[in-house]
Amino acid sequence: MRKLTADNIFSGNRGWLKDTVIVIDDSGHILALKDRKEFSPNEYEYFPGILLPGFVNAHCHLELSHLYGRFQTGTQLLPFLKSVVQNREVDPDFVLQKIQEADQNMWKEGIVAVGDISNKTDTIQCKLSSPIYYHTFVEAFDFLQESQAVVFFQAYKLVYEAFGNLPKTMVPHAPYSVSRLLFSMINNLNSGTSAISSIHNQECIDEDLLFINKTGGFVSFWESFGFSMEAFNPIAKDSVYYTMEHLNANHPVLFIHNTQTKKDHIESILNWNPKSYFVTCPNANLFIENQLPDYTQFENACMCIGTDSLSSNWQLSILSEIKTILKHQSYLPLEEVLRWATFHGAQALNISDWAGSIDLYKKPGINWIQDVEFFENACLLKPEAKIQKIS
Ligand SMILES: [Zn+2]
Repeated sequence: MRKLTADNIFSGNRGWLKDTVIVIDDSGHILALKDRKEFSPNEYEYFPGILLPGFVNAHCHLELSHLYGRFQTGTQLLPFLKSVVQNREVDPDFVLQKIQEADQNMWKEGIVAVGDISNKTDTIQCKLSSPIYYHTFVEAFDFLQESQAVVFFQAYKLVYEAFGNLPKTMVPHAPYSVSRLLFSMINNLNSGTSAISSIHNQECIDEDLLFINKTGGFVSFWESFGFSMEAFNPIAKDSVYYTMEHLNANHPVLFIHNTQTKKDHIESILNWNPKSYFVTCPNANLFIENQLPDYTQFENACMCIGTDSLSSNWQLSILSEIKTILKHQSYLPLEEVLRWATFHGAQALNISDWAGSIDLYKKPGINWIQDVEFFENACLLKPEAKIQKIS
């Protein structure tokens, strides 16, 4: 049994816990939350800074970990995607080794759960033995080619089945890469289950232009891969309306990136499906597009944080993502962004029965953030703030 306290404890779901001692058992379950006055100082472990629940990384591509350092920053999305597609063939042992390393580094960074995109089966071995909880999103796409949807679906169904009993859902990659027919096959597979869905959303302006009037870079992009865009008809609306038209609204959905998303899109999405989550991956947005979402647009949205992959990031660290958000949009209070990184992520992955908040009987993992400055009404992370996993 351990008794833990800090200058400030962030609960995950109900703000700061003042003068509190967290009592945990040897396996990390929270047995009690007590007033510090009930103890003498030699009875508890004191951590200068903040204690908080383990982080939830709501969007990652663990299988791309071997692509670390391969791509240039600031190229924009389309050239970036092209490099990813062209760089997929590598020595399989190297791929597996980099997956293992990335998994271990995430654990050290205080990440206890990950929503992980998989197009292949490379991460299965790692996920079977990792202490991290993974929800695998087996991601399907058919380059908007209705005529090839069945063939692509069958290939992804094999990947999906290979994940066996690991938590998993088949999901569409993005509106610009999934035909109507493929959407409906994915919906059929998930119908009658409590599947959580996920989709890359409005990551660049070209995506909306494609759906508004078939302009922007996507037409020539797909044609450069040999896929005809002749049969594609725009809908005179932003891409997210195509998603809403074709994705099953009965399942929770994680919308990923949202750099072009505005208040009216969010309103429409929440009317369509109140169980919608908005995952921001700020470092990847800066890496690829050199821009961030405008977080003032997301006041009514349930926000989560993801790292995306090591092909578009310098590390897989939620603390680093938090620092980036607060550096560029510092009007956001620290506690709000911490809630995105803990409780909201746990809600999105449907694991709030054990993760995301410091509550009795949960086992959320406990992180310690050092190098924090305290003011009367606020806490600020210093640039050098670092994380250590306590339980
Ligand atoms: Zn992604």
